[in-house]
Amino acid sequence: MSNTEMLFPATIAGSLPKPAWLAETHKLWPQWRAEGAELDAAKRDATLVWLKLQEDAGLDIIGDGEMSRQHFVHGFVENVAGIDRANKVEIGIRDNRYKAMVPRVVGKLELKERAHPWEAGFLRAHTKKKIKFTLPGPMTIMDTVSDQYYGDRVKTAFAFAELLNQEARALQAEGVDVIQFDEPAFNAYTRQAADWGIDALHRAIDGLTCTTAVHICYGYGIQANIEWKRMLGSEWRQYEDFFPALAKSRIDQVSLECINSRVPPNLMALLEGKQVMVGVIDVATDTIETPEQILATIETALQFVPKDKLLPASNCGLAPLDRDVAYAKLQALGAGARLAREKFG
Ligand code: ZN
Repeated sequence: MSNTEMLFPATIAGSLPKPAWLAETHKLWPQWRAEGAELDAAKRDATLVWLKLQEDAGLDIIGDGEMSRQHFVHGFVENVAGIDRANKVEIGIRDNRYKAMVPRVVGKLELKERAHPWEAGFLRAHTKKKIKFTLPGPMTIMDTVSDQYYGDRVKTAFAFAELLNQEARALQAEGVDVIQFDEPAFNAYTRQAADWGIDALHRAIDGLTCTTAVHICYGYGIQANIEWKRMLGSEWRQYEDFFPALAKSRIDQVSLECINSRVPPNLMALLEGKQVMVGVIDVATDTIETPEQILATIETALQFVPKDKLLPASNCGLAPLDRDVAYAKLQALGAGARLAREKFG
Protein backbone atom coordinates (compact mmCIF):
# COMPACT_ATOMS: atom_id res chain seq x y z
CA MET A 1 0.00 0.00 0.00
CA SER A 2 1.31 3.40 -0.77
CA ASN A 3 0.17 5.95 1.70
CA THR A 4 0.01 8.75 -0.83
CA GLU A 5 -3.65 8.70 -1.83
CA MET A 6 -4.96 9.91 1.50
CA LEU A 7 -3.35 11.49 4.53
CA PHE A 8 -3.79 9.91 7.95
CA PRO A 9 -5.60 6.65 7.04
CA ALA A 10 -7.16 5.49 10.31
CA THR A 11 -7.10 1.89 11.48
CA ILE A 12 -7.33 -0.22 14.62
CA ALA A 13 -4.53 -2.30 16.12
CA GLY A 14 -6.59 -5.47 15.70
CA SER A 15 -9.15 -6.86 18.11
CA LEU A 16 -12.62 -5.55 18.95
CA PRO A 17 -15.12 -6.62 21.64
CA LYS A 18 -17.09 -9.75 20.79
CA PRO A 19 -20.86 -9.25 20.90
CA ALA A 20 -22.54 -10.92 23.91
CA TRP A 21 -24.32 -13.40 21.63
CA LEU A 22 -20.97 -14.63 20.26
CA ALA A 23 -18.85 -14.99 23.39
CA GLU A 24 -18.43 -13.92 26.99
CA THR A 25 -17.74 -10.19 27.15
CA HIS A 26 -14.91 -8.20 28.78
CA LYS A 27 -12.54 -11.18 28.62
CA LEU A 28 -9.30 -11.85 26.78
CA TRP A 29 -10.05 -15.56 26.62
CA PRO A 30 -13.85 -15.75 26.39
CA GLN A 31 -15.95 -18.89 26.11
CA TRP A 32 -18.00 -19.11 22.92
CA ARG A 33 -21.79 -18.91 23.24
CA ALA A 34 -22.50 -21.47 20.53
CA GLU A 35 -20.85 -24.37 18.81
CA GLY A 36 -20.53 -26.04 15.42
CA ALA A 37 -22.30 -24.48 12.46
CA GLU A 38 -24.15 -22.06 14.73
CA LEU A 39 -20.84 -20.73 16.10
CA ASP A 40 -19.42 -20.39 12.57
CA ALA A 41 -22.46 -18.34 11.54
CA ALA A 42 -22.23 -16.19 14.68
CA LYS A 43 -18.55 -15.42 13.95
CA ARG A 44 -19.44 -14.32 10.42
CA ASP A 45 -22.31 -12.16 11.65
CA ALA A 46 -20.11 -10.49 14.28
CA THR A 47 -17.44 -9.83 11.65
CA LEU A 48 -20.04 -8.11 9.45
CA VAL A 49 -21.29 -5.97 12.34
CA TRP A 50 -17.82 -4.65 13.11
CA LEU A 51 -16.93 -4.23 9.46
CA LYS A 52 -19.95 -1.93 9.04
CA LEU A 53 -19.22 -0.06 12.28
CA GLN A 54 -15.59 0.53 11.30
CA GLU A 55 -16.76 1.94 7.96
CA ASP A 56 -19.41 4.09 9.62
CA ALA A 57 -16.81 5.43 12.07
CA GLY A 58 -14.78 6.61 9.08
CA LEU A 59 -11.88 4.18 9.38
CA ASP A 60 -9.87 3.61 6.22
CA ILE A 61 -8.21 0.23 6.73
CA ILE A 62 -10.68 -2.35 8.00
CA GLY A 63 -10.03 -5.51 10.01
CA ASP A 64 -12.12 -8.49 11.11
CA GLY A 65 -11.85 -7.42 14.76
CA GLU A 66 -10.58 -10.97 15.42
CA MET A 67 -14.18 -12.17 15.86
CA SER A 68 -13.29 -15.73 14.89
CA ARG A 69 -10.49 -16.31 17.40
CA GLN A 70 -10.70 -16.81 21.11
CA HIS A 71 -7.30 -15.22 21.72
CA PHE A 72 -4.83 -13.44 19.45
CA VAL A 73 -2.11 -16.09 19.83
CA HIS A 74 -4.17 -19.24 20.29
CA GLY A 75 -6.38 -18.49 17.29
CA PHE A 76 -3.31 -19.31 15.21
CA VAL A 77 -1.83 -22.08 17.39
CA GLU A 78 -5.12 -24.04 17.30
CA ASN A 79 -4.43 -25.10 13.73
CA VAL A 80 -0.80 -26.08 14.16
CA ALA A 81 0.27 -29.73 14.35
CA GLY A 82 3.04 -30.65 16.79
CA ILE A 83 1.25 -28.97 19.68
CA ASP A 84 -0.44 -30.64 22.64
CA ARG A 85 -3.26 -28.37 23.73
CA ALA A 86 -4.92 -30.99 25.95
CA ASN A 87 -2.17 -30.99 28.57
CA LYS A 88 -1.32 -27.37 29.18
CA VAL A 89 1.36 -26.27 31.64
CA GLU A 90 1.71 -23.10 33.68
CA ILE A 91 4.66 -20.89 32.83
CA GLY A 92 5.67 -17.26 33.28
CA ILE A 93 5.34 -15.36 30.00
CA ARG A 94 6.54 -11.92 28.79
CA ASP A 95 9.63 -12.16 31.01
CA ASN A 96 7.48 -13.51 33.86
CA ARG A 97 5.02 -10.64 33.88
CA TYR A 98 2.11 -13.09 33.94
CA LYS A 99 1.53 -16.73 34.72
CA ALA A 100 -0.39 -18.48 31.98
CA MET A 101 -1.57 -22.00 31.17
CA VAL A 102 -0.03 -22.66 27.79
CA PRO A 103 0.03 -25.52 25.24
CA ARG A 104 3.19 -27.57 24.77
CA VAL A 105 5.25 -27.97 21.59
CA VAL A 106 5.81 -31.75 21.40
CA GLY A 107 6.76 -32.36 17.76
CA LYS A 108 7.65 -30.76 14.46
CA LEU A 109 5.43 -27.72 13.92
CA GLU A 110 3.28 -27.82 10.78
CA LEU A 111 0.23 -25.96 9.57
CA LYS A 112 -2.52 -28.61 9.45
CA GLU A 113 -4.62 -26.55 7.09
CA ARG A 114 -5.22 -22.83 6.83
CA ALA A 115 -5.11 -21.10 10.22
CA HIS A 116 -7.71 -18.60 9.00
CA PRO A 117 -9.50 -20.28 6.12
CA TRP A 118 -12.41 -17.88 5.51
CA GLU A 119 -11.94 -14.58 7.33
CA ALA A 120 -9.91 -12.62 4.76
CA GLY A 121 -12.01 -13.71 1.79
CA PHE A 122 -15.14 -12.81 3.73
CA LEU A 123 -13.83 -9.32 4.53
CA ARG A 124 -12.73 -8.84 0.93
CA ALA A 125 -16.18 -9.79 -0.31
CA HIS A 126 -17.96 -7.31 1.96
CA THR A 127 -15.95 -4.09 1.87
CA LYS A 128 -14.35 -1.95 -0.79
CA LYS A 129 -11.97 -0.43 1.74
CA LYS A 130 -8.42 -1.63 2.26
CA ILE A 131 -8.29 -4.61 4.57
CA LYS A 132 -5.78 -5.57 7.21
CA PHE A 133 -5.25 -8.99 8.73
CA THR A 134 -3.44 -9.55 12.03
CA LEU A 135 -1.33 -12.55 12.98
CA PRO A 136 0.71 -13.09 16.15
CA GLY A 137 4.43 -12.55 15.62
CA PRO A 138 6.91 -15.44 15.86
CA MET A 139 8.58 -14.28 19.09
CA THR A 140 5.25 -13.68 20.79
CA ILE A 141 3.88 -17.11 19.81
CA MET A 142 7.08 -18.78 21.00
CA ASP A 143 6.76 -16.92 24.32
CA THR A 144 3.15 -18.11 24.73
CA VAL A 145 3.84 -21.86 24.41
CA SER A 146 6.05 -24.28 26.33
CA ASP A 147 8.64 -25.78 23.96
CA GLN A 148 9.52 -29.38 24.75
CA TYR A 149 10.77 -30.31 21.27
CA TYR A 150 13.10 -27.76 19.65
CA GLY A 151 15.05 -27.03 22.84
CA ASP A 152 15.84 -23.49 21.75
CA ARG A 153 13.72 -20.33 21.83
CA VAL A 154 15.10 -18.93 18.57
CA LYS A 155 14.61 -22.21 16.67
CA THR A 156 11.05 -22.47 17.96
CA ALA A 157 10.28 -18.90 16.91
CA PHE A 158 11.68 -19.52 13.41
CA ALA A 159 9.62 -22.70 13.10
CA PHE A 160 6.51 -20.59 13.80
CA ALA A 161 7.77 -17.90 11.39
CA GLU A 162 7.80 -20.51 8.61
CA LEU A 163 4.15 -21.37 9.26
CA LEU A 164 3.19 -17.70 9.53
CA ASN A 165 4.75 -17.17 6.12
CA GLN A 166 2.60 -19.94 4.59
CA GLU A 167 -0.53 -18.39 6.09
CA ALA A 168 0.48 -14.84 5.14
CA ARG A 169 1.07 -15.80 1.48
CA ALA A 170 -2.40 -17.34 1.34
CA LEU A 171 -3.95 -14.25 2.95
CA GLN A 172 -2.23 -12.03 0.43
CA ALA A 173 -3.62 -14.17 -2.40
CA GLU A 174 -7.10 -13.56 -0.97
CA GLY A 175 -6.70 -9.81 -1.38
CA VAL A 176 -5.41 -8.64 2.00
CA ASP A 177 -3.74 -5.22 1.68
CA VAL A 178 -1.89 -5.16 5.00
CA ILE A 179 -0.61 -8.11 7.02
CA GLN A 180 0.27 -7.14 10.58
CA PHE A 181 2.26 -9.22 13.05
CA ASP A 182 1.62 -8.56 16.74
CA GLU A 183 4.83 -8.62 18.76
CA PRO A 184 4.10 -7.41 22.30
CA ALA A 185 6.96 -9.72 23.36
CA PHE A 186 9.41 -7.24 21.77
CA ASN A 187 8.78 -4.88 24.70
CA ALA A 188 9.57 -7.68 27.17
CA TYR A 189 12.74 -8.88 25.41
CA THR A 190 14.03 -5.72 23.77
CA ARG A 191 17.59 -6.89 23.03
CA GLN A 192 16.44 -10.22 21.60
CA ALA A 193 13.96 -8.29 19.46
CA ALA A 194 16.90 -6.50 17.82
CA ASP A 195 19.17 -9.58 17.82
CA TRP A 196 16.79 -12.05 16.16
CA GLY A 197 13.12 -11.02 16.56
CA ILE A 198 13.22 -8.86 13.46
CA ASP A 199 14.99 -11.63 11.50
CA ALA A 200 12.14 -13.95 12.47
CA LEU A 201 9.67 -11.36 11.14
CA HIS A 202 11.65 -11.25 7.90
CA ARG A 203 11.17 -14.99 7.61
CA ALA A 204 7.43 -14.50 8.17
CA ILE A 205 7.13 -11.84 5.42
CA ASP A 206 9.39 -13.58 2.92
CA GLY A 207 7.96 -13.23 -0.61
CA LEU A 208 5.09 -10.91 0.38
CA THR A 209 4.35 -7.92 -1.83
CA CYS A 210 1.46 -6.51 0.23
CA THR A 211 2.11 -3.97 2.98
CA THR A 212 3.59 -5.53 6.10
CA ALA A 213 3.28 -4.20 9.63
CA VAL A 214 4.40 -4.97 13.15
CA HIS A 215 2.41 -3.94 16.24
CA ILE A 216 4.41 -3.51 19.42
CA CYS A 217 2.46 -2.45 22.47
CA TYR A 218 2.51 -2.51 26.24
CA GLY A 219 -0.40 -4.93 26.23
CA TYR A 220 -4.14 -4.86 26.70
CA GLY A 221 -5.57 -2.62 29.41
CA ILE A 222 -5.72 -5.43 31.97
CA GLN A 223 -4.64 -5.21 35.62
CA ALA A 224 -1.33 -7.11 35.23
CA ASN A 225 -0.24 -4.67 32.51
CA ILE A 226 -1.40 -1.60 34.38
CA GLU A 227 0.75 -2.72 37.35
CA TRP A 228 3.71 -3.52 35.08
CA LYS A 229 3.53 -0.08 33.48
CA ARG A 230 3.65 1.53 36.94
CA MET A 231 7.04 -0.14 37.46
CA LEU A 232 8.52 1.11 34.19
CA GLY A 233 9.32 4.57 35.57
CA SER A 234 8.64 8.02 34.21
CA GLU A 235 9.93 7.27 30.69
CA TRP A 236 9.25 4.05 28.78
CA ARG A 237 12.32 3.66 26.59
CA GLN A 238 11.87 -0.01 25.54
CA TYR A 239 11.34 0.96 21.88
CA GLU A 240 14.75 2.60 21.80
CA ASP A 241 16.48 -0.80 21.90
CA PHE A 242 15.02 -2.12 18.65
CA PHE A 243 13.53 0.78 16.64
CA PRO A 244 16.88 1.47 14.91
CA ALA A 245 16.96 -2.18 13.73
CA LEU A 246 13.30 -1.95 12.67
CA ALA A 247 14.08 1.21 10.68
CA LYS A 248 16.58 -0.86 8.66
CA SER A 249 14.17 -3.80 8.28
CA ARG A 250 11.91 -4.71 5.35
CA ILE A 251 8.75 -4.21 7.47
CA ASP A 252 6.71 -1.30 6.05
CA GLN A 253 4.70 -0.12 9.06
CA VAL A 254 5.35 0.02 12.79
CA SER A 255 2.50 0.38 15.32
CA LEU A 256 3.34 1.94 18.68
CA GLU A 257 1.69 3.29 21.81
CA CYS A 258 1.48 7.03 22.17
CA ILE A 259 -1.55 8.60 23.88
CA ASN A 260 -1.49 8.40 27.70
CA SER A 261 1.71 6.35 27.58
CA ARG A 262 5.08 7.42 28.94
CA VAL A 263 6.84 6.64 25.66
CA PRO A 264 8.98 9.71 24.83
CA PRO A 265 7.48 10.85 21.48
CA ASN A 266 10.95 11.59 20.07
CA LEU A 267 11.62 7.81 19.93
CA MET A 268 9.40 7.85 16.81
CA ALA A 269 12.26 9.64 15.04
CA LEU A 270 14.21 6.36 15.27
CA LEU A 271 11.79 4.86 12.72
CA GLU A 272 12.95 7.08 9.89
CA GLY A 273 11.62 5.86 6.54
CA LYS A 274 8.82 3.74 8.02
CA GLN A 275 5.09 4.32 8.03
CA VAL A 276 4.15 4.78 11.67
CA MET A 277 0.84 3.69 13.19
CA VAL A 278 0.58 6.11 16.08
CA GLY A 279 -1.61 5.08 19.02
CA VAL A 280 -4.11 7.90 19.49
CA ILE A 281 -6.74 5.78 21.29
CA ASP A 282 -6.06 4.53 24.82
CA VAL A 283 -7.38 0.98 25.35
CA ALA A 284 -6.84 1.03 29.14
CA THR A 285 -9.62 3.49 29.92
CA ASP A 286 -13.33 3.80 29.12
CA THR A 287 -12.94 7.56 28.71
CA ILE A 288 -13.69 8.43 25.09
CA GLU A 289 -11.04 10.57 23.44
CA THR A 290 -12.23 13.78 21.81
CA PRO A 291 -11.37 14.41 18.14
CA GLU A 292 -9.37 17.47 19.31
CA GLN A 293 -7.34 15.29 21.68
CA ILE A 294 -6.62 12.91 18.81
CA LEU A 295 -5.59 15.83 16.60
CA ALA A 296 -3.24 17.01 19.38
CA THR A 297 -1.64 13.54 19.62
CA ILE A 298 -1.21 13.48 15.83
CA GLU A 299 0.42 16.94 16.01
CA THR A 300 2.87 15.69 18.64
CA ALA A 301 3.77 12.74 16.41
CA LEU A 302 4.16 15.02 13.38
CA GLN A 303 7.24 16.52 15.02
CA PHE A 304 8.94 13.16 14.41
CA VAL A 305 6.98 11.44 11.60
CA PRO A 306 6.30 12.97 8.13
CA LYS A 307 2.60 13.54 7.50
CA ASP A 308 2.48 11.14 4.55
CA LYS A 309 3.75 8.32 6.78
CA LEU A 310 1.45 8.72 9.77
CA LEU A 311 -1.50 6.38 10.38
CA PRO A 312 -3.64 7.16 13.44
CA ALA A 313 -4.51 3.93 15.28
CA SER A 314 -5.40 2.50 18.67
CA ASN A 315 -2.62 1.78 21.19
CA CYS A 316 -3.60 -1.91 21.22
CA GLY A 317 -6.63 -4.12 20.64
CA LEU A 318 -10.01 -3.14 22.07
CA ALA A 319 -11.27 -6.68 22.80
CA PRO A 320 -11.76 -6.40 26.59
CA LEU A 321 -13.69 -3.11 26.40
CA ASP A 322 -17.41 -2.57 26.52
CA ARG A 323 -18.81 -2.77 23.01
CA ASP A 324 -20.38 0.71 23.09
CA VAL A 325 -17.18 2.22 24.48
CA ALA A 326 -15.17 0.59 21.70
CA TYR A 327 -17.51 1.94 19.02
CA ALA A 328 -17.39 5.45 20.52
CA LYS A 329 -13.58 5.24 20.43
CA LEU A 330 -13.66 4.19 16.75
CA GLN A 331 -15.89 7.18 15.98
CA ALA A 332 -13.44 9.48 17.79
CA LEU A 333 -10.57 7.95 15.81
CA GLY A 334 -12.34 8.56 12.51
CA ALA A 335 -13.28 12.14 13.49
CA GLY A 336 -9.77 12.92 14.77
CA ALA A 337 -8.21 11.70 11.51
CA ARG A 338 -10.65 13.90 9.56
CA LEU A 339 -9.67 16.95 11.64
CA ALA A 340 -6.00 16.24 10.93
CA ARG A 341 -6.74 15.98 7.19
CA GLU A 342 -8.56 19.31 7.27
CA LYS A 343 -5.66 20.95 9.04
CA PHE A 344 -2.72 19.40 7.17
CA GLY A 345 -4.24 18.21 3.87
ZN1 ZN B 1 -1.27 -4.71 21.45
